[in-house]
Amino acid sequence: MPELPEVETARKLIADTALNRRIVGVDDADTFVCRPHAPGELRAALTGRTLTAARRRGKTMWCETSGLDGSHEAGPDLGIHLGMGGRIVVTSGAGEAAEGGGPRRRDAQPRKSEWDRFTLVFADGGSLALFDKRRLGRVRLTPDIDALGPDAEQVTAAEFGKLITKGSIAVKARLLDQSKIAGVGNLLADEILWQAKVSPSAPTGSLRRKDADRLYSALEAALASAITKGGVHTGEVIPARHPGGTCPRCGAEMVHGTVGGRSTWWCSREQAA
Ligand SMILES: [Zn+2]
Repeated sequence: MPELPEVETARKLIADTALNRRIVGVDDADTFVCRPHAPGELRAALTGRTLTAARRRGKTMWCETSGLDGSHEAGPDLGIHLGMGGRIVVTSGAGEAAEGGGPRRRDAQPRKSEWDRFTLVFADGGSLALFDKRRLGRVRLTPDIDALGPDAEQVTAAEFGKLITKGSIAVKARLLDQSKIAGVGNLLADEILWQAKVSPSAPTGSLRRKDADRLYSALEAALASAITKGGVHTGEVIPARHPGGTCPRCGAEMVHGTVGGRSTWWCSREQAA
């Protein structure tokens, strides 16, 4: 499932390759992915505009759009959510395609055009498509981002310290709460907790300042590494998340449980509750 780093690669792809290209066609026929919009509604709203910026908060991504016919009044924001495995494919006017989003699975089948759930066609002949075999992505105008906490990449140490030590919920559940910090999913949470040597079930209120500082450093490092390497699956502890797995740092057995409603793995020695 895409977490912040995967969405960031998609956002960066759009920012680098899809801005300022005039939209001349929109395929918004998939009424499930484009709900609640009726077919043609997105086309009517976007045709004649350009994308002017690609933004992200947590796992939510949106594009700002230009006014029509040189008008300075901006168009609507176009929200694109990658769902469970969606990818953004941007094609140049010369037909060269570049992809951003989750990792391409080694067993990935060739891209089928019917798995393009939403497409913008540009005047230069290129396009931007949401390629989403599982059809769990979502495209909508003016997505609501007010319910999201600060982006995990932007949150300050002071903000994070307050968020992570308040209340008595399991620290992993707090990390996953998008209304508190936006962008941390299940794998990233396990990676951060392992890096910081904090038990996933430790109550937030029991964490000390130095725990919060270690978690913040781990968050920053894990995000930077995952963005550079192409996704959260590249985290150090991720390959050890299986029965019989051992901690890549100390060699102790990895243990499994459900924390914050999610499948969780931690080091039996360094992250003991
Ligand atoms: Zn260990």
